[in-house]
Amino acid sequence: MIPENKCSRCPLSEFRTKIVMPDGNENSNIVLVGEAPGETEDLTGRPFVGRSGKLLEKIMKEEGIERSDVLITNTVKCRPPGNRDPTKEEMDACRPFLEHELSGKRVVVGLGRSACRILIGYEGKMSDIVNKETTITISGKEITFLPSYHPAACIYNSASKEELKRTMRILRERYMGGAEHRPKQRKICDDPIAKDVTDAKNVFTADAAAIDWNDVSGMMIDMDGTVYKGDNVIHGAPEFIERVKKRKIPFVFLTNNSSSDREHYLSKLTKMGFNVSIDNILTSTTATISYLLKHHPGRTVYPIGTQRFVNEIRAKGVRIVEKDPDIVLLAFDTSITYEKINNAYHFIKNGSMFVATHPDDLCPTEHGYDVDIGAFIRFLESMTGVRTTVIGKPNTLMTEMASEIMNVPMKKMVMIGDRLYTDMRMASDAGIRSVMVLTGEARREDISGDIHPTMVVNSVNDLIL
Ligand code: SF4
Repeated sequence: MIPENKCSRCPLSEFRTKIVMPDGNENSNIVLVGEAPGETEDLTGRPFVGRSGKLLEKIMKEEGIERSDVLITNTVKCRPPGNRDPTKEEMDACRPFLEHELSGKRVVVGLGRSACRILIGYEGKMSDIVNKETTITISGKEITFLPSYHPAACIYNSASKEELKRTMRILRERYMGGAEHRPKQRKICDDPIAKDVTDAKNVFTADAAAIDWNDVSGMMIDMDGTVYKGDNVIHGAPEFIERVKKRKIPFVFLTNNSSSDREHYLSKLTKMGFNVSIDNILTSTTATISYLLKHHPGRTVYPIGTQRFVNEIRAKGVRIVEKDPDIVLLAFDTSITYEKINNAYHFIKNGSMFVATHPDDLCPTEHGYDVDIGAFIRFLESMTGVRTTVIGKPNTLMTEMASEIMNVPMKKMVMIGDRLYTDMRMASDAGIRSVMVLTGEARREDISGDIHPTMVVNSVNDLIL
């Protein structure tokens, strides 16, 4: 749940210039929650950009953490007059938005008393609880909570500053995989995919016992790079699907590629020899439509996407407009133009929400990789200062939808895919088992940080169920 541009759920709407939306890495497992926005935040619409924000960034950097490693937000999204503490009523009104931001995360840091009051109901001295881990329940799941000082309390107090530094050290060491926490740059494999698959035996890496297939009731299977690459089928992939069907395990193919509709993928898979139906296909477009209809019903959308994409979302009831949209929606658009980007820039600058179907930088093809939408997301974010809401993998919304479609509990599912930062990240965030295949983008040596697939195999062909 995200506040609308004109949210007036509480009286703070009267005093704000801009709603202050979360900033940083939406896909991070770690969230820093501050108090209410201050004057600079109110003017820019970004949290922690004033003096406190600069000190926070400095302390994070000293401990090897970048702003882009974590999600940063506030208890309320609008500035109280005179920078006073928000009231309980104001915090309660804004709480659903905070719950949405914290949902599915691994650890939440409460920066300051107001954040600790709303999140753990604590009213006492910060010095009694600082850096003592506890848990909070968000959307029915327990999440680690780490209380700490607000950076404003550290400006003239070196002891508080040391504690906030310790908080960052704890995050790095316990939740970010130590000193080498930063994910490696994505690699692009120049080798022809067929070679990887057919020469697989001498580099086979699977731990056959890592997953008990008798305990698996549903599978999510990535497409590009996992069962085919561009127009080339991965050797043995159709036979793998037949083994899955023989064991009567429900499955859905997932793809972040929003340039084509489900009928296109069904036709493509069928031509490649996969015996599947349209119900076996879940695209980021399907997930995005579901998100828009559920969370923003009736809102107008300016889409940047292929004609196929626009037709699909219109047919499902999304209101398309060419001017003054509530939402700018970016998909994988192989017909993107300067005009579309420029329109998006102006609409977002004027207050439209910015949603993207998926975050991928590159899209695998039979020839290598083509440019996907990641660079366009970053471009529009940097030009407008507005953060994107990204729907596709690794957003666990796809996992929830797959679980509903297959009618299988999440913990009984397995994700099979080729990308660490989408497929494996989503499985990790959803707390489900995963198999990483080496037929696509990631290599075994890319595995680092907090994403560890349950199992790594050369290809789906190696999966004997
Ligand atoms: S503080 Fe939250 S609930 Fe209140 S008006 Fe702002 S966005 Fe809406």
